[in-house]
Order: sequence, then structure tokens, then C-alpha cells
Amino acid sequence: MKFVVLGSGGAIPAPIPCCFSGESRYYKENMIYRTGPSIYLYNASVLFDTPEEIRWQLNRESIRSLKHLFYTHWHPDHTAGIRIIEHVGRISKRPIDVYIPNDVMIDFEAFGLTKHLAYFEKKKWMKLNIIKDREPIKIDGITITPLNLYRNDRTRYAYKVSQRKKSIVYAPCSTYQMKVDKLYDDLDVMLLECGFYGNREKLKKKYPWVLDHISLGESIELLNRIKAKRSILTHIEGIKPGPTTKQLQDAVKGTNIEIAYDGMKITL
Ligand SMILES: [Zn+2]
Repeated sequence: MKFVVLGSGGAIPAPIPCCFSGESRYYKENMIYRTGPSIYLYNASVLFDTPEEIRWQLNRESIRSLKHLFYTHWHPDHTAGIRIIEHVGRISKRPIDVYIPNDVMIDFEAFGLTKHLAYFEKKKWMKLNIIKDREPIKIDGITITPLNLYRNDRTRYAYKVSQRKKSIVYAPCSTYQMKVDKLYDDLDVMLLECGFYGNREKLKKKYPWVLDHISLGESIELLNRIKAKRSILTHIEGIKPGPTTKQLQDAVKGTNIEIAYDGMKITL
């Protein structure tokens, strides 16, 4: 299987438009870009999530086809490019298969996304497939298993992609206190949300969102617990207290943990 990380950024990745300080300044001076979170599997033309830059991301990588699209959750950093279904669906021979877990559909409905889907379906640009937690889907010899992260307060998914004895889990977002079970055993690659930098207790007053988000330290602990052959951090924020490039590099120094970047190829 061959994947490309289309976007390694988080909800607000660097460089931030109109911002010329901190990480955004560093990124602009060094011509580095992180775009919104998404990965693509070449073998079966499968896309996971559609951040706002998805049209540009697919063009950047010269992707030639989009047949299947899986969603992890409703958040705009993962869905704001939903109109890619219209762009590509118009020129596709058959409708794009869109897969959404049944409980994620509740959020899609609440935040107005099902209206888009209904319109795209009417136009025959896509076909909606409602899927269920831990019920695998087979596409061209590849198995894709939706993994509910089993958070108490919200519905978020990861996906496990397997072919023969090789497997990868993509868990880009909202992984705080996610539950890990046997499906995370013996992975070749674990691609996990990076998390914020620092101590939750010290940061919570200034940045209340850290209260329900994973920290970089917790992500590293989780990767060490899962013990995949390759561990990669993604969904990297460009706002504080997201780690700076230096903080991130220092945090993984001496470990085998890798830092994702836009255009990173993952072959397994
Ligand atoms: Zn996200």
C-alpha cells in the first residue's frame, strides 16, 4: 500500500494568513506549508477527509482519481473542502463512494453537512454509504475498518487500513482519552494527532481548549504503548500552545517517532 500525507496541519496550521510572528513567520521565511489534515491511498483511490485545501492538495500530488472518501468526523478542518465531491464527481465515470459512520452522521446532520451530501447525491456525483464501527469495508483487496475512538463526550473516528499482513491506523484528531484495543496491535504504521505542547494544568487558564485535547507528551506515550513499527505525528497546530518546530523536533529526539509533513509518502 502506498499513502501520501496530503496535509499534516491541524485545525489552524502554520503559516496563518496575515500573521508574521512566531511559527507563521518561521514557516513563511522558510517556505514551509502545512495544510489541513488528510491522507490518500493510491492503491484504491481512497481519500480520508476533505480539509479546505483539498482541491489544491490533490493537484499538488497529481492525484489521478478519487473513487472513495471516508470521513473521521464533522469538524471543518476535516470537512470544509466537501465540495471536492462536486469538482471531481462531475468528471468521474461513476459517483464517488462516500463513507460516513452512522453516529458521525448525527453530527453531519446537526451542522448542515447532510444538505450538501443530499444535493451531491441528487446530482449523481456521489453515493452515500453509512458504515458502522468496527465493521470492515473491502475495496480492491484492501480492508478499511472504522474505529470509533470511544470518547465519552463526542463521536470521533480513526480508520485502520489493512492489506494482507500490513496495516496502518490513521487517527488524526480528537484522540484525547481514546480507547485502544486489540485492533491497534501489530501495526506497521500508527499516524496520530500531535497534540499541544506543555502542561495542561499550567495552560488551561489561557488556553481552555487544552482541557479536552491530547498533549504532545500524551501522544508520545500512546505511540510508545501502541508500539507500531513506524510511529508518525500529524495534525500539527500552528497556534499556541501547539509545539514550535524546535519543540517538536526536541520532543522526538532519540526516539523513532517521525513528524509528518505535507507530501510525505508512506509505503507498507
Ligand atoms: Zn482536526
